[in-house]
Amino acid sequence: MGESKYWEEEWETLPREDIEKKQLESLKEIVKYAYDNTIYYKKSFDEAGVKPEDIKTLEDIKKLPFIDKQTERKTQGIGSMVGELCAVPENDIVFISASSGSTGVPTISPFTQKDFDEWMNIESRLMYQAGMRKHDRYMHGINFSLFVGGPCVLGAQRLGAMGIWAGTLPSDRLLYIIQQFKPTFIQTTPSYALYLGETAKKKGIDPKSLSVKRIIVAGEPGGSIPATRNAIEALWDAKLIEFYGLSDIFGACAGMCDEQHGLHLAEDHILVETVDPKTGDVLKDGETGELVFTSIRKHARPMIRFRTGDIGYVDKSTCKCGRTSARIHIVGRKDDMFIVSGVNIFPSDVETVLRDFEGITGEYRIHVFERDYTARYGVEVEKEKPDADVEDIKKRVVAALKSRIGVKPDYI
Ligand SMILES: [Zn+2]
Repeated sequence: MGESKYWEEEWETLPREDIEKKQLESLKEIVKYAYDNTIYYKKSFDEAGVKPEDIKTLEDIKKLPFIDKQTERKTQGIGSMVGELCAVPENDIVFISASSGSTGVPTISPFTQKDFDEWMNIESRLMYQAGMRKHDRYMHGINFSLFVGGPCVLGAQRLGAMGIWAGTLPSDRLLYIIQQFKPTFIQTTPSYALYLGETAKKKGIDPKSLSVKRIIVAGEPGGSIPATRNAIEALWDAKLIEFYGLSDIFGACAGMCDEQHGLHLAEDHILVETVDPKTGDVLKDGETGELVFTSIRKHARPMIRFRTGDIGYVDKSTCKCGRTSARIHIVGRKDDMFIVSGVNIFPSDVETVLRDFEGITGEYRIHVFERDYTARYGVEVEKEKPDADVEDIKKRVVAALKSRIGVKPDYI
C-alpha cells in the first residue's frame, strides 16, 4: 500500500480544462456565499453593479472589484473583531493569525475548523511535492508567534514525518538541535539559512556534514534568485525548495517541486490573475504584473480579487514533474520596486548580480536617491579581501549591473 495522502491527489495531474471547470464551480459558489454572508462584499458588489449570477465564466471575475491590505485594515474590527469581510459568526472561528504589521496596522486572518483542515492538507501536499516522506524529520525553524507560517509544521506531521517545533531559537540552540535530532528537512528564511550555515562554520561545524538534505525557505525573496539559491545549496550541500504564502490567505499556498522552476500554486483553493500594477487591467498568462488572488474555498473570510503587491508571472504549461497546476514566478514586491531612467528595478535584480560576485562578500546595500529631479541608485558592497583592487571591483560591478538591469548605478 502506498503512503496515505490527505489531499485530493487528482489535482496534481488534472488536465487544465478540468482544473478550470472545477475552479469556475468554486468561484460561483464563493462569490454567492460572500455576497450573501458578508457586509463588505454585498456593499461593494452592489456599488459595482454586479450580482453573483453575473459570474458565468472565469473571465467574468474581472467584473468584481479588487480588495487589498487597506480593505482589510478598514473593515477589521467593524461589527466584530474580524470585521465586515468575515462571513461566519465569531464562534465558528478556531484560529487567527496576524500579519507582522511591518507596514501599518497588523491584519488578522481568521479560519474555521474546515478552513484550517483544508489548509493543512495543502501544506502536506506542498511538503510531499518538496520531497518529504514519512521517514523524514522536519525542523520548523520559522516564527510561531501569531505568524501564519507557524502551523504549517502540522502539514509535515500529517504526512507522517517527524515534526520538530524549533521556531526561532538562538542559532547556537538550533545548531545543537540539528546535531542532536538530525532533521533531514529544515524550514527557515533564505537569509537565515545563510547565516546559520556561516555560524556553524565559525564554530568549526561543517554544515555539509550535518543531516540536512533539503531546506525549505519562505518569508522573503531569495529562494528564486539563482545566485542566492546556489550559495545556500553549496553551503549546506542540500537542495533548496521555496514556499510562498501570505497571511491574508494562508501560510504556504505555493511551493517548488524537484524541478525548482516556479512554484506550484494550490489552484483548488486559489484563483490567480496577473494585472497591470498601475491600471489594474488583466494581463495575459505569462506577462509580468501584480498577482491577484481569489480564495475560492475559504469560508471564514473569503478573499475576492486580493491584490498581493507581489510582482510576478504565471506559467500554466505542464511542469516537467508532471503536475499541471499553474506555477507562479515572483520577481519582487511592488513596494520595493524603484524606477531609474524608466526601468523598473527590484532589489532582487541587484542581488542576482552581487550574491555570487567574485571579490566581494555578497552583502550589499542599495541607495535610491534623487538628483536634478531624476531618480538614481547607488550600491554599497563589501570587498572580500582587505588588499583587493577596489577600482577593478568597482568597474566589474558597474558593468555587471548595467548589463543585467540596463541602467548603471551612480556609484559603488
Ligand atoms: Zn513541478
